Amino acid sequence: MSSSDARPSIYDDLKRQGVSRRSFISYCTYMASLLALPPSAAQAIADTLTNKSRPSVIWLSVQECTGCSESLLRSFEPTLEGLIFDQFSLDYHHVLQAAAGIAAERARDQAIERNFGKYVLIIDGGIPTGRSGVLSTTGGKSGVELIRAAARGAALIVAVGSCAAYGGIPAAAPNPTNSGGALDALRDLIDQGAVTAPIINAPGCPPVPEVMTGVIVYFLTYGKSPPLDDLSRPIPFFGRTVHDDCPRLPFFDQGLFAKTFDDEGARRGYCLKDLGCKGPTTFNACTTVKWNQKTSFPMLSGHGCLGCAQPKFWDREGGFYGKLF
Ligand code: SF4
Ligand code: SF4
Repeated sequence: MSSSDARPSIYDDLKRQGVSRRSFISYCTYMASLLALPPSAAQAIADTLTNKSRPSVIWLSVQECTGCSESLLRSFEPTLEGLIFDQFSLDYHHVLQAAAGIAAERARDQAIERNFGKYVLIIDGGIPTGRSGVLSTTGGKSGVELIRAAARGAALIVAVGSCAAYGGIPAAAPNPTNSGGALDALRDLIDQGAVTAPIINAPGCPPVPEVMTGVIVYFLTYGKSPPLDDLSRPIPFFGRTVHDDCPRLPFFDQGLFAKTFDDEGARRGYCLKDLGCKGPTTFNACTTVKWNQKTSFPMLSGHGCLGCAQPKFWDREGGFYGKLF
């Protein structure tokens, strides 16, 4: 136990699960590089995860498909990334908690009360405000009501996935439930000063798991959010387009484009822009962090980017396979 707090630290728990100090330090070094921090930051991250007690996390889901939770927690084998997230104290999670019914609702309210001002609030799913929000309810309360109540006591708010960030698929035209993102649902409370926590959008459909863990680790280490862009996305992960780091970029620059998914150009690795790739206008970390235990990403495996981390990607003119330009 490394802190005076009753909860063990993240590292204490990792050690119990057999994670070696070497793996832990190499994870901290990796996280520092993902967050575009100097190498010395790895030590600060390691000290934080070793000495601070596990943060309380309240995860509220509204109009969602569970893909964001799956992205983080359902890897083929436990990764250090997944284990780190497991060590955050998930005091309330619609999908993962064992409790149900009144007991679950009580657990959420108690977690908010006990950790008021200190917990991380994670939101996934679009937030419907049509018909006063009753189109999505839990325990008789609307999603928007639950989120607004929980946001008041949060130290950090992370909207994971494109639905929580911008409304996503539930907000697709004609948006029958008047769904929107967390910032839309909280705007007036932010303006009134009733919600003071930094709000970070971590879009993607699903979001890259390292982004979710990375922003929380950054917050624990430095007590603030990483620098954000004009869509409230953390710049270390969303500062570049997937096109900027795509291995097909040399072919794009030469004007060499595949015309079908099985032509000679596709076999040679030509650029997929003419097959609908939205990489040039999509900011995300897929090409650098990669998916499936850092195995691959769409353009590497032969498909274009759908632009899932951008607002309104579902409604884009021309659809998934329409040419950008
Ligand atoms: S495949 Fe897409 S991301 Fe890659 S170079 Fe072509 S347009 Fe850019
Ligand atoms: S490559 Fe594009 S569509 Fe695929 S996950 Fe990354 S941002 Fe989303």
